[in-house]
Amino acid sequence: MKVLKFGGTSVGSAQRIKDVAALIVPRGKNIIVLSAMSGTTNSLVEISDYLYKKNIEGAKETINNLEAKYRRTIDELYSTEEAKAQALHEVKACFNYIRSFTKDIFTLFEEKEILAQGELMSTAMMTIYLKEQGVDAQLLPALEFMRTDKNAEPDTQYIRSRLTTLLDKYPEAQLYITQGYICRNAYGEIDNLQRGGSDYTASLIGAAINADEVEIWTDIDGMHNNDPRYVEGTEPVSHLHFEEAAELAYFGAKILHPTCVLPAKLNNIPVRLLNTMQPNAAGTLIYNTQGPKAIKAVAAKDNITAIKIKSGRMLLAYGFLRKVFEIFETHQTPIDMIATSEVGVSVTIDNERNLEAIVNDLKKFGTVTVDKDMVIICVVGDLEWQNRGFEAKALDALRDVPVRMISYGGSNYNISFLIRKEDKVKALNSLSDHLFKHK
Ligand code: ASP
Ligand code: MG
Repeated sequence: MKVLKFGGTSVGSAQRIKDVAALIVPRGKNIIVLSAMSGTTNSLVEISDYLYKKNIEGAKETINNLEAKYRRTIDELYSTEEAKAQALHEVKACFNYIRSFTKDIFTLFEEKEILAQGELMSTAMMTIYLKEQGVDAQLLPALEFMRTDKNAEPDTQYIRSRLTTLLDKYPEAQLYITQGYICRNAYGEIDNLQRGGSDYTASLIGAAINADEVEIWTDIDGMHNNDPRYVEGTEPVSHLHFEEAAELAYFGAKILHPTCVLPAKLNNIPVRLLNTMQPNAAGTLIYNTQGPKAIKAVAAKDNITAIKIKSGRMLLAYGFLRKVFEIFETHQTPIDMIATSEVGVSVTIDNERNLEAIVNDLKKFGTVTVDKDMVIICVVGDLEWQNRGFEAKALDALRDVPVRMISYGGSNYNISFLIRKEDKVKALNSLSDHLFKHK
């Protein structure tokens, strides 16, 4: 059995829902994970925002607009009156539930209930559509098996045992449909796996049932070797190691959510990135084996701030780095890149929320310099230290770009450069020219 996940754009209209149905039925008895229709979760966040601000009118207007969109989709999607009525009934129930929150106090708890409605609606609509087409599709409610523990981490034992029981209940089904993103927490309340979390759902389910493969269907033909928004002629990468995919997902390639990698990697389940618009394209296969030695891809992460702490006291001292890192911990700010010398250390952060406080605290330990509007360029591939020439090639590509930091040796799979925002497009293009052309 496989797990096939379709994102918001893949189910973003009546036609796209039909296309997905045509794609999944011939592929047999698999578990299909769906996101909410595109734009829905954003609208639900907006509705919650209005409710937090007690702007009931704003909330109601947004709810009405969203409901109208769903009614139009239903009108177009189904051919029988019976299916139409059934879908309307489901969708109306969700919207009435959302409306019920306009009358009472509004907290994080209610917000999570609202955010869950998008996936509940898309999966209900797909299941009804498949049944109308004569397919025995069985809905597996994620709220009955997807669960996080007290640390907000997936409770894998629980997920496995509940999901297995559910599947055993419907042995005759032709395929299964379930919601991405939503879950219950350790207290049984409705919760979610964070924005973009449907990929994570797919990977967790894959791990729970020991799936043959997890397929992430989007609207691009796999992970590309550079950012197609800035570089012409990028190509899909056919094979990636999980570690390479994790670096790329984190450092900019939006196609796969970074959390998705770990459950699949630990359970040795291949993840394939495929394109709904071009279902026969090979896509990208992510697995635990290393392909031919090569640099595979380049990605960029924007809005990075570099902080340098220079101190004579660091010379031959121990405990200096701990003190520096502790400040970032106190201010709950993750560090991405690090570069050290004997008298100073540079780090990068992508969250400026506590920058001022961090800088103030760091000044106790040395002279602090801040560079904003920087970009991390991440070069990913077989960069094991004993291989020769790859680092030199990447560096050579950046010979005309001022480089603020370099980080290499943290893993076998990447080398990262910190450059200025205005040099990003030039750097990405030059890397593609040097690394992927004239091979
Ligand atoms: N619908 C959720 C979101 O937009 C989850 C997902 O699509 O992965 O964040
Ligand atoms: Mg996504």
